[in-house]
Amino acid sequence: EGRWFAVRVAPLGTHGLVLVLAEDLTEMRRVEAMRRDFVANVSHELKTPVGALSLLAETVESAADDPEAVRRFAGRMQHESVRLTSLVQDLMTLSRVQGDEPLPELHPVSLDEVVVEALDRGHVKAGAKGIELATGGEDGLKVRGDEELLVTALRNLIDNAVAYSPENTRVVVATRRADEAYAEINVTDQGIGIPPGDLERVFERFYRVDPARSRQTGGTGLGLAIVKHVVTKHDGQVTVWSKEGSGSTFTIRLPLLNPPAGGDPTPRTRT
Ligand code: ADP
Repeated sequence: EGRWFAVRVAPLGTHGLVLVLAEDLTEMRRVEAMRRDFVANVSHELKTPVGALSLLAETVESAADDPEAVRRFAGRMQHESVRLTSLVQDLMTLSRVQGDEPLPELHPVSLDEVVVEALDRGHVKAGAKGIELATGGEDGLKVRGDEELLVTALRNLIDNAVAYSPENTRVVVATRRADEAYAEINVTDQGIGIPPGDLERVFERFYRVDPARSRQTGGTGLGLAIVKHVVTKHDGQVTVWSKEGSGSTFTIRLPLLNPPAGGDPTPRTRT
């Protein structure tokens, strides 16, 4: 275990002092440990709803002569099944996108359509909290990609924006041409925000700032990991800006399809 050390020697000022930094490649070891922890985490996450389900089943059995109790327990069983299903679905999506292989089929994808599709389901949850879902920005941007995966990624960001925002706030999904070669989708909320110390880690599998809150909102803890891998697979990046107590902006940056080859993108008119 003592092998992973990089030694860096840095001169300090002009007095011949050197600073020797024994860097234990923490990052590399952390990634390795994360890989090992993943299976443990998955097992733990599966165990919770499965355990609850079997307990509820037992309870239902013993409450068979109380229809009201049966109904109540059945409702909770349904809730746990939904949780289990989302977890399994997220695990399947993650396994599709976290490997090194490129995505099999890429097509021209309109970001307008990705936004419309991703917002589709979001309206229900947002409506229940009185959250206004607004869209804006530049139309007609196209990228090369897998539409279904891009929709999943954006949907995860929208679901989070709604889940981590108080009632009667606003979530804005906006597309824009960032520069000649890149398009951006920004999801901005007026929610609880993310503490600076957690910002770097929220894209890790099962990392949650507040585990109780995440479970309460039905989160699997895999949403942002999926976003990161989907976007990376499209040669893009996802970044986050956040201020505790006032909100967050998640930005998906993707290479534009057919960016103008350095020239003037607008057709010239003859005078
Ligand atoms: P979860 O299923 O817990 O939402 P994610 O991977 O989607 O898992 O997000 C990881 C964590 O990042 C969340 O538990 C939450 O603490 C934080 N987070 C994600 N999006 C937001 C947001 N828009 N505002 C505040 N916190 C967020």
